[in-house]
Order: sequence, then structure tokens, then C-alpha cells
Amino acid sequence: MANDYYATLGVRRDASPDEVKKAYRRLARELHPDVNPDPETQERFKEITQAYEVLSDPQKREMYDMGADPFARGGAGAGAGFGGAGFPFSDIMDAFFGTAASRGPRSRARRGRNATLRVELDLAESAFGTTRELSIDTAVACTSCQGEGTAPGTHPDTCDTCHGRGEVQQVQRSFLGQVMTARPCPQCGGFGSVIRTPCPECSGDGRVRTRRTVKVKIPAGVENGIHIQLAGEGEVGPGGGPPGDLFLEIVEKPHPIFEREGDDLHCSVEIPMTAAALGTSVTVETLDGAEEVDIKPGTQSGQVITLYGRGVRHLNESGRGDLNIHVTVETPGRLDEEQEELLRRLAKLRGEERPPGKFAPGQRGVFSRIRDVFNQH
Ligand SMILES: [Zn+2]
Ligand SMILES: [Zn+2]
Repeated sequence: MANDYYATLGVRRDASPDEVKKAYRRLARELHPDVNPDPETQERFKEITQAYEVLSDPQKREMYDMGADPFARGGAGAGAGFGGAGFPFSDIMDAFFGTAASRGPRSRARRGRNATLRVELDLAESAFGTTRELSIDTAVACTSCQGEGTAPGTHPDTCDTCHGRGEVQQVQRSFLGQVMTARPCPQCGGFGSVIRTPCPECSGDGRVRTRRTVKVKIPAGVENGIHIQLAGEGEVGPGGGPPGDLFLEIVEKPHPIFEREGDDLHCSVEIPMTAAALGTSVTVETLDGAEEVDIKPGTQSGQVITLYGRGVRHLNESGRGDLNIHVTVETPGRLDEEQEELLRRLAKLRGEERPPGKFAPGQRGVFSRIRDVFNQH
């Protein structure tokens, strides 16, 4: 924590409210601007007053003990929970010491906006990663004025109204009597300077719109809907401000053969009844090219053959998913005389001329369930 208020007042952390008050009074007598007007002592007086402001208020002291510092510059504690009094304490202090403009003008430079770009990938690209050249409509720094917004050879002029402070002072009545408060200068918008001759290229914005090409590396294993953040590749900010980020939204195109489930792939292969009974080998398309796959004799419809490590590469880790081949057995539809004769003989030999219908448990094939999952999306 930047400010140790206990040390500033010279009290222990468990000091009673009375001890805090006494310590402040003693120091205030010593350091009061009326007694001791040199700047260093004034600064010290401000510090002890800040410390007292926090430690004398049970609620603020409790928040401070938990780690919130209301006076930390730019800290989250500033304002949050402390602004309730309706009159910022620092304004009172500034008014008291006549330093109301101490915060200074604000910068023209602001951070640029983030941008999002959709990137369509096919399955192989998302499985193995790819490099893409993308063109984006974006804002880049104006080369004519280097982001300053002024015409060549000119610079922003100091504002006449606030004399560069970016703020104008106002007298307000408060419970302390009359105090000076500051508000942003209406003439220059708080910048402290005005651009009299804006850059003709960018009209004073400090940036121009253009079409830019970015080369991006898309890692293996990305999937539909994922966002990839490219820091600093968004629009540059106005007034020469830093750029925002570019987000790539991955859109995966459906594949004609494979369905993706996480990093696993599914496809189906149809084989004739005879091949299923006798066994065979089929050529299956994989992401790594065609592959011969053994179909064992007696393979049933709905059986799944898994090719391990033939799926999509895992994102940010080693290894790949699997390829699951769902086998469908085709029953021949039209038989000629000889084929029918043969099948009838086979049926007789197997005692299957009038088979008793067997009921299987009410379970649907894995593949159809997966298909349902996909269709829901
Ligand atoms: Zn310009
Ligand atoms: Zn001004």
C-alpha cells in the first residue's frame, strides 16, 4: 500500500480513536500552514490530514485496514465508497491550499477500440492450425501529423481560457465556507490546448481509416466460436493513442464427411452384408489421407472402429483426438434368382428360415445420438 496512514500519524495499528485524534492535533499544530508556510511542510500537513481523514472515520478505517486506499492515485479505492460525502475531499484540500489545478490537463491520446473479425476455417485448418493473411478495415496513425492532429509545421496552442491547465476554477459554498473547485475547461474540453489548424489528412483526429493486412497464425485445435486475442492489432486510438486488440472469431465450416465432437471425429462407412459377415478391408478418408481399415468377420451394424490419434490436435497441448468410424451393414435390396437361391440355402444351413424375433434393449446407436447432439445446435 502506497500510504501508511498509521506511520504518518505515528500511531500503532490498534490505536484508539482518541489516540488518533491526539496524534493528529499534535502534528497539525506543528505543521499548520499558518505556522510553517514552506512547501515541504504544507505537503506534510496534507499527508497527516489525509491520514486523519481516513483513520478518524470508523468506516473508512475499516476499509483501509482491508486494503482500500481512498487517496491512492488512480487506485480503485478512489471514489468507491468514499465519495458519499458529496464533496470530494481532495477538492477541499486543493481549495484550502489553492492548488485546484494540480491534476493537470487530460491527454488527447486515448486507447483505440478493439476489433473483431470472423475467420472461416475448414476442418483440416482448425485441426492442424494455419496461417492466414487477413485484411481488415481499421484506423491507423496518421503519417502526416504523427497522430498529433495538427497541420504540418503547426502544433496545438495553449488554451487561452485555462492557460493550459485544462481546468477552470469555480467558487462554491460548502460546509467549510467558500471553496474553490475545478471543472474541465469548456473551451478546450480539458486538453489544455486547442488545435487551430487541424491536419488536413485526418481532420485533427490523429488517425486515418485504411485497409490493413495482418498475417495471423491460428493454432491447431481451435473450434467454432473460439476467440483469439491479438494484442495491439486493433484500431489505434485518437490523438496518437495506443491501439486496441484484435479478436478473431473462429467459424468452422461443416465437413462433408466428418462430424466433430470436441477433438474427436466421427464418420460412417457402409459395407455390404456379405463383407460384414466374411470380413474385409475398406479405404477410409482421414485428415491424414486415405487409410486401409480392417473390418473383422462378423462385424455388426452400428459397431465403431476407432483410429486413435487421427482426430483434431488438442489446443495448446500435445496429442490428438480419435477418429471413430461407425459401420453400417447394408442388406441387399434386390436379388436375382441365383443370389436368392444361395441365400435361401444359407438360411436353411443356419436354421434361420423362420428366426424368432429377438428383442434388443431399447438403445439407439452411438452415432445417431451424436448426430442428435449436433442437430440441436
Ligand atoms: Zn493527421
Ligand atoms: Zn482550456
